[in-house]
Amino acid sequence: MTAVREPTSGEKVPSGQIAAVTIDLDDTLFDQRLWLDGAWQAVGTAGAVFGLDPEALISRLRVIAAEGSDRGRIIDRALLDLGVPQWELPAVVPGLVAAFRSHAPASLPCYPGVGEALEAVRRWVPVGLITDGDPHVQRAKLRALGLRDAFDVIVFSDELGRRHRKPSPEPFLRALRELGVEPAHAVHIGDRPAKDVAGARGVGMRAIRVRTGEYRDHPDDPQAAPWRVFDRATEALHWLAVQLAATRPSRLLAD
Ligand SMILES: [Mg+2]
Repeated sequence: MTAVREPTSGEKVPSGQIAAVTIDLDDTLFDQRLWLDGAWQAVGTAGAVFGLDPEALISRLRVIAAEGSDRGRIIDRALLDLGVPQWELPAVVPGLVAAFRSHAPASLPCYPGVGEALEAVRRWVPVGLITDGDPHVQRAKLRALGLRDAFDVIVFSDELGRRHRKPSPEPFLRALRELGVEPAHAVHIGDRPAKDVAGARGVGMRAIRVRTGEYRDHPDDPQAAPWRVFDRATEALHWLAVQLAATRPSRLLAD
């Protein structure tokens, strides 16, 4: 048997072959609502300091967040709904945002089988994480999920500037550069058609959509169809591991 070794940057990878996988975090590897729920509890507790009813605040935060976590200013809107006057917001909001940011649960569950499925792919190729959101919060999630060592590369898109959240090409290109892989030889897995699928396709990667979380039932972006669709990230990862097993030397054999 001929000696096997890792492909390195610039090395020709046969067309169609996968040399790296990148993946999203929120609602792809765990149910983001579990984290949000704890964060709203922390905000509610902090609200009591300002004379707010914690239960009323928490339930309002949940309702507004359920309308779409992307709409932003959830805390401001909840306070206004509870009758806090606009002019009082600057005195209240920063403390509540700080409580939200510093929420750091000791542990959170991934979707079942995520750790094993990531390892199954990492036997063959490196895996990078590409995640939007406040890096401080995203790091706390990784710690709680036990995923800090689950990736070869981690890109927090906000560290490139908030305007570079997915579908900006920047976080994808950064991850590919660090992985030493051309876009055509990489696959990205994520739950959001307009961010994960469109962003990955925009730089020339293949994109796998998973149907979990808040965007589970959203239609595909007609301009950016996914390469494959799976119900769960674990299914996508195990499917990829099988494809890789048929075409690549194991990374473990390379040692
Ligand atoms: Mg996501």
